[in-house]
Amino acid sequence: MSDIDVHKKLPRIFVDAPIEEGVEIALSALQSHYFHNVMRKKNGALIRIFNGRDGEWCAAIAELSKKSGLLLPRQQIKPQDVTQKDITLIFAPIKKNRLDFLVEKAVELGVSQFQPILTQNTEVRKLNAERIAAQIIEATEQCERLNLPKLLPLCDLNKALKAHSTIYGAIERDENAPHIQNIAPADKCALLIGPEGGFTAQEIDIMHSSPALSPVSLGPRILRAETAALYGLAYLNR
Ligand code: SAH
Repeated sequence: MSDIDVHKKLPRIFVDAPIEEGVEIALSALQSHYFHNVMRKKNGALIRIFNGRDGEWCAAIAELSKKSGLLLPRQQIKPQDVTQKDITLIFAPIKKNRLDFLVEKAVELGVSQFQPILTQNTEVRKLNAERIAAQIIEATEQCERLNLPKLLPLCDLNKALKAHSTIYGAIERDENAPHIQNIAPADKCALLIGPEGGFTAQEIDIMHSSPALSPVSLGPRILRAETAALYGLAYLNR
Protein backbone atom coordinates (compact mmCIF):
# COMPACT_ATOMS: atom_id res chain seq x y z
CA MET A 1 0.00 0.00 0.00
CA SER A 2 1.30 3.48 -0.83
CA ASP A 3 1.62 6.16 1.84
CA ILE A 4 -1.44 7.90 0.41
CA ASP A 5 -3.53 4.74 0.81
CA VAL A 6 -2.34 4.32 4.39
CA HIS A 7 -3.11 7.91 5.33
CA LYS A 8 -6.22 8.75 3.35
CA LYS A 9 -8.65 7.25 5.85
CA LEU A 10 -7.18 9.09 8.84
CA PRO A 11 -9.25 11.99 10.22
CA ARG A 12 -7.89 15.31 8.94
CA ILE A 13 -7.95 18.52 10.94
CA PHE A 14 -6.76 22.10 10.68
CA VAL A 15 -4.45 23.38 13.40
CA ASP A 16 -3.22 26.93 13.80
CA ALA A 17 0.19 26.17 15.30
CA PRO A 18 3.43 25.63 13.36
CA ILE A 19 3.95 21.92 12.60
CA GLU A 20 7.38 20.44 13.33
CA GLU A 21 8.39 16.87 13.93
CA GLY A 22 8.18 16.02 17.63
CA VAL A 23 6.90 19.47 18.72
CA GLU A 24 3.60 19.01 20.57
CA ILE A 25 0.46 20.82 19.43
CA ALA A 26 -2.55 21.37 21.69
CA LEU A 27 -5.98 20.30 20.43
CA SER A 28 -8.81 22.79 20.92
CA ALA A 29 -11.62 21.86 23.33
CA LEU A 30 -13.88 21.11 20.35
CA GLN A 31 -11.30 18.91 18.63
CA SER A 32 -10.61 17.06 21.90
CA HIS A 33 -14.32 16.48 22.39
CA TYR A 34 -14.60 15.20 18.83
CA PHE A 35 -11.73 12.72 19.12
CA HIS A 36 -12.52 11.65 22.69
CA ASN A 37 -16.32 11.45 22.74
CA VAL A 38 -17.35 11.16 19.10
CA MET A 39 -14.53 9.18 17.47
CA ARG A 40 -13.52 7.43 20.73
CA LYS A 41 -9.84 7.70 19.87
CA LYS A 42 -7.16 6.55 22.29
CA ASN A 43 -3.60 7.74 22.88
CA GLY A 44 -1.38 6.70 20.01
CA ALA A 45 -4.15 6.98 17.37
CA LEU A 46 -2.95 8.60 14.15
CA ILE A 47 -4.58 11.57 12.43
CA ARG A 48 -3.67 14.03 9.66
CA ILE A 49 -3.07 17.72 10.34
CA PHE A 50 -2.39 20.82 8.24
CA ASN A 51 -2.04 24.52 9.05
CA GLY A 52 -2.00 26.14 5.62
CA ARG A 53 1.77 26.66 5.73
CA ASP A 54 3.64 23.46 6.53
CA GLY A 55 1.97 20.90 4.27
CA GLU A 56 0.07 17.90 5.60
CA TRP A 57 1.41 15.78 8.44
CA CYS A 58 0.66 12.51 10.12
CA ALA A 59 0.42 13.07 13.88
CA ALA A 60 -0.21 10.83 16.87
CA ILE A 61 -2.59 11.69 19.68
CA ALA A 62 -0.25 11.91 22.67
CA GLU A 63 -2.78 12.87 25.36
CA LEU A 64 -6.55 13.04 25.23
CA SER A 65 -9.34 13.89 27.64
CA LYS A 66 -12.86 15.28 27.22
CA LYS A 67 -11.69 18.87 26.94
CA SER A 68 -8.03 18.85 26.02
CA GLY A 69 -5.45 16.89 24.13
CA LEU A 70 -1.97 16.94 22.64
CA LEU A 71 -0.71 15.88 19.22
CA LEU A 72 2.77 14.82 18.27
CA PRO A 73 3.58 15.46 14.58
CA ARG A 74 5.46 12.45 13.16
CA GLN A 75 6.15 12.95 9.47
CA GLN A 76 5.13 15.20 6.61
CA ILE A 77 2.94 13.38 4.08
CA LYS A 78 2.43 16.23 1.61
CA PRO A 79 4.52 19.37 1.07
CA GLN A 80 2.73 22.72 1.09
CA ASP A 81 1.17 23.30 -2.33
CA VAL A 82 2.42 26.64 -3.66
CA THR A 83 1.03 26.38 -7.17
CA GLN A 84 -2.57 27.24 -6.25
CA LYS A 85 -4.35 30.00 -8.10
CA ASP A 86 -5.41 33.06 -6.13
CA ILE A 87 -9.14 33.51 -6.67
CA THR A 88 -11.30 35.90 -4.65
CA LEU A 89 -15.07 35.50 -4.65
CA ILE A 90 -16.75 38.89 -4.28
CA PHE A 91 -20.39 38.20 -3.44
CA ALA A 92 -23.39 39.71 -1.72
CA PRO A 93 -24.51 37.73 1.34
CA ILE A 94 -27.52 35.46 0.80
CA LYS A 95 -29.82 33.64 3.21
CA LYS A 96 -28.38 31.12 5.66
CA ASN A 97 -28.89 27.74 3.98
CA ARG A 98 -27.87 28.98 0.58
CA LEU A 99 -24.87 30.77 2.04
CA ASP A 100 -23.76 27.59 3.84
CA PHE A 101 -23.98 25.73 0.55
CA LEU A 102 -22.09 28.45 -1.30
CA VAL A 103 -19.26 28.58 1.25
CA GLU A 104 -18.76 24.81 1.34
CA LYS A 105 -18.79 24.38 -2.44
CA ALA A 106 -16.62 27.44 -3.12
CA VAL A 107 -13.98 26.01 -0.77
CA GLU A 108 -14.12 22.72 -2.68
CA LEU A 109 -13.74 24.58 -5.97
CA GLY A 110 -10.56 26.26 -4.77
CA VAL A 111 -11.56 29.79 -3.77
CA SER A 112 -8.76 31.63 -1.92
CA GLN A 113 -10.68 34.50 -0.34
CA PHE A 114 -14.29 35.37 0.33
CA GLN A 115 -15.08 39.07 0.00
CA PRO A 116 -18.67 39.73 1.07
CA ILE A 117 -20.05 43.05 -0.22
CA LEU A 118 -23.03 45.29 0.25
CA THR A 119 -24.87 46.35 -2.89
CA GLN A 120 -28.04 48.35 -3.34
CA ASN A 121 -30.17 45.22 -3.62
CA THR A 122 -28.41 43.19 -0.93
CA GLU A 123 -31.15 41.96 1.39
CA VAL A 124 -28.98 40.14 3.90
CA ARG A 125 -26.82 42.93 5.37
CA LYS A 126 -25.18 41.06 8.25
CA LEU A 127 -22.90 38.08 8.30
CA ASN A 128 -22.07 35.69 11.10
CA ALA A 129 -18.32 35.66 10.46
CA GLU A 130 -17.61 33.08 13.16
CA ARG A 131 -20.05 30.62 11.65
CA ILE A 132 -18.68 31.11 8.14
CA ALA A 133 -15.09 30.75 9.38
CA ALA A 134 -16.01 27.42 11.02
CA GLN A 135 -17.61 26.25 7.78
CA ILE A 136 -14.54 27.23 5.80
CA ILE A 137 -12.37 25.13 8.12
CA GLU A 138 -14.73 22.15 7.96
CA ALA A 139 -14.90 22.18 4.17
CA THR A 140 -11.12 22.64 3.89
CA GLU A 141 -10.53 19.65 6.17
CA GLN A 142 -12.95 17.53 4.19
CA CYS A 143 -11.74 18.32 0.66
CA GLU A 144 -8.03 17.80 1.42
CA ARG A 145 -6.97 21.32 0.56
CA LEU A 146 -3.71 22.43 2.08
CA ASN A 147 -4.46 26.14 2.33
CA LEU A 148 -7.28 27.76 4.25
CA PRO A 149 -9.42 30.31 2.38
CA LYS A 150 -9.73 33.71 4.08
CA LEU A 151 -12.93 35.52 4.97
CA LEU A 152 -12.56 39.28 4.52
CA PRO A 153 -14.78 41.80 6.35
CA LEU A 154 -17.93 43.01 4.62
CA CYS A 155 -17.29 46.11 2.48
CA ASP A 156 -19.10 48.07 -0.21
CA LEU A 157 -18.95 47.37 -3.95
CA ASN A 158 -16.72 50.37 -4.69
CA LYS A 159 -14.10 49.35 -2.17
CA ALA A 160 -14.05 45.78 -3.50
CA LEU A 161 -13.64 47.04 -7.08
CA LYS A 162 -10.59 49.07 -6.03
CA ALA A 163 -8.95 46.23 -4.11
CA HIS A 164 -8.35 43.92 -7.08
CA SER A 165 -6.55 44.32 -10.38
CA THR A 166 -8.37 41.61 -12.40
CA ILE A 167 -12.08 41.18 -11.74
CA TYR A 168 -14.48 39.12 -13.82
CA GLY A 169 -17.86 40.72 -13.22
CA ALA A 170 -20.81 38.40 -13.84
CA ILE A 171 -23.42 40.74 -15.26
CA GLU A 172 -26.78 39.21 -15.96
CA ARG A 173 -28.34 39.95 -19.39
CA ASP A 174 -25.21 41.64 -20.78
CA GLU A 175 -25.28 40.51 -24.39
CA ASN A 176 -21.84 41.90 -25.15
CA ALA A 177 -20.05 40.07 -22.37
CA PRO A 178 -18.05 36.98 -23.42
CA HIS A 179 -19.03 33.68 -21.86
CA ILE A 180 -16.69 32.88 -18.97
CA GLN A 181 -15.57 29.72 -20.76
CA ASN A 182 -14.08 31.86 -23.52
CA ILE A 183 -11.73 33.90 -21.36
CA ALA A 184 -8.23 32.82 -20.34
CA PRO A 185 -8.45 33.39 -16.60
CA ALA A 186 -5.57 35.10 -14.80
CA ASP A 187 -3.92 33.09 -12.01
CA LYS A 188 -4.71 35.92 -9.61
CA CYS A 189 -8.22 37.24 -10.11
CA ALA A 190 -11.61 37.91 -8.55
CA LEU A 191 -15.12 36.84 -9.55
CA LEU A 192 -17.85 39.33 -8.77
CA ILE A 193 -21.39 37.98 -8.34
CA GLY A 194 -24.39 40.18 -7.62
CA PRO A 195 -27.16 39.79 -5.06
CA GLU A 196 -30.40 37.84 -5.50
CA GLY A 197 -32.04 41.10 -6.57
CA GLY A 198 -29.37 41.69 -9.25
CA PHE A 199 -27.17 44.74 -9.76
CA THR A 200 -28.83 48.14 -10.22
CA ALA A 201 -28.26 50.13 -13.45
CA GLN A 202 -26.08 52.53 -11.47
CA GLU A 203 -23.91 49.68 -10.18
CA ILE A 204 -23.54 48.24 -13.66
CA ASP A 205 -22.30 51.68 -14.80
CA ILE A 206 -19.78 51.75 -11.95
CA MET A 207 -18.62 48.25 -12.87
CA HIS A 208 -18.20 49.17 -16.52
CA SER A 209 -16.09 52.17 -15.57
CA SER A 210 -13.79 50.17 -13.30
CA PRO A 211 -10.45 49.58 -15.07
CA ALA A 212 -10.02 46.26 -13.23
CA LEU A 213 -13.33 44.76 -14.32
CA SER A 214 -14.09 42.64 -17.39
CA PRO A 215 -17.76 41.72 -17.76
CA VAL A 216 -18.49 38.02 -18.24
CA SER A 217 -21.63 36.06 -19.03
CA LEU A 218 -22.57 32.82 -17.34
CA GLY A 219 -24.85 31.74 -20.15
CA PRO A 220 -28.39 32.42 -21.32
CA ARG A 221 -30.23 31.53 -18.10
CA ILE A 222 -30.43 33.68 -14.98
CA LEU A 223 -28.74 31.68 -12.24
CA ARG A 224 -29.31 32.12 -8.54
CA ALA A 225 -26.38 33.82 -6.83
CA GLU A 226 -24.91 30.63 -5.39
CA THR A 227 -25.19 28.74 -8.69
CA ALA A 228 -23.62 31.70 -10.49
CA ALA A 229 -20.69 31.81 -8.05
CA LEU A 230 -19.95 28.09 -8.29
CA TYR A 231 -20.34 27.99 -12.06
CA GLY A 232 -17.93 30.92 -12.42
CA LEU A 233 -15.39 29.49 -9.96
CA ALA A 234 -15.31 26.18 -11.80
CA TYR A 235 -14.30 28.02 -14.99
CA LEU A 236 -11.74 30.27 -13.29
CA ASN A 237 -10.03 27.36 -11.54
CA ARG A 238 -9.77 25.06 -14.51
N1 SAH B 1 -32.95 38.76 -9.78
C1 SAH B 1 -31.99 39.19 -10.73
C2 SAH B 1 -30.95 38.13 -11.01
C3 SAH B 1 -29.88 38.04 -9.99
S1 SAH B 1 -28.92 36.63 -10.22
C4 SAH B 1 -32.67 39.52 -12.03
O1 SAH B 1 -33.67 38.92 -12.34
O2 SAH B 1 -32.12 40.34 -12.74
C5 SAH B 1 -27.64 36.93 -9.08
C6 SAH B 1 -26.31 37.23 -9.69
O3 SAH B 1 -25.83 36.08 -10.35
C7 SAH B 1 -26.29 38.31 -10.73
O4 SAH B 1 -26.18 39.60 -10.18
C8 SAH B 1 -25.05 37.96 -11.56
O5 SAH B 1 -23.86 38.42 -10.91
C9 SAH B 1 -25.06 36.46 -11.50
N2 SAH B 1 -25.70 35.86 -12.68
C10 SAH B 1 -26.77 35.04 -12.70
N3 SAH B 1 -27.02 34.61 -13.95
C11 SAH B 1 -26.07 35.16 -14.75
C12 SAH B 1 -25.77 35.07 -16.15
N4 SAH B 1 -26.50 34.33 -16.97
N5 SAH B 1 -24.69 35.74 -16.61
C13 SAH B 1 -23.94 36.52 -15.79
N6 SAH B 1 -24.18 36.63 -14.46
C14 SAH B 1 -25.23 35.96 -13.95
